[in-house]
Amino acid sequence: MVEEQLIPRGINNQKVLDALSRIERHKFIPENLKKSAYADFPLPIGEGQTISQPYIVALMTQYLGLAGKERVLEVGTGSGYQTAILAELAREIYSVERYDALANKAETVLNELGYKNIKIKVGDGSLGWQEAGPFDRIIITAASPNVPEPLIEQLTDNGKLILPLGGGFGQVLTLIEKKGDKIKTTDICGCVFVPLVGKYGVPN
Ligand code: SAH
Repeated sequence: MVEEQLIPRGINNQKVLDALSRIERHKFIPENLKKSAYADFPLPIGEGQTISQPYIVALMTQYLGLAGKERVLEVGTGSGYQTAILAELAREIYSVERYDALANKAETVLNELGYKNIKIKVGDGSLGWQEAGPFDRIIITAASPNVPEPLIEQLTDNGKLILPLGGGFGQVLTLIEKKGDKIKTTDICGCVFVPLVGKYGVPN
């Protein structure tokens, strides 16, 4: 996966490559799909949701530019795979998932793997996680037509937020950087994610 899918497409941050090499992706994949765990496409994880393709996970992580001490908010825990990658590369991870069943399953796997720096809650992540903020980095792994305002507010100065920005049929992976009261926006590439369903995302 690392040699065929990530390195040739420009993932060159060694810490990101090491984390994706180390973490057993198959642990996050439903039993009947395990044979495709390392394949170059997204996979269903239940509740109509998907685990992202490995390359997209690596790309989003690389753009976060983690040095190791950050507090990170993830919106859309899903399988917990991206959560594990973040937990290897930053200090504290807060992750919000809409579906109880997915949050519970992810929490079980992450506990089995021994992570102690992850907190998961069930709720509408488009509101962020006010009590736990502010965050140095925020990653939204579901598509939103706009950048949820509470998430900009919960970002530290010099913080970075990455998300798939756009509507139902395709989005632009977008990096938001906050510097004082300025917001810099960088388009990265086209992508397709399930929707961010919530108050500041797609209405339920
Ligand atoms: N990072 C995940 C990808 C999961 S897909 C992984 O590696 O497996 C996106 C997830 O976002 C889904 O599980 C979906 O239920 C969740 N989601 C959608 N809207 C949400 C919201 N408003 N708050 C929290 N989670 C949300």
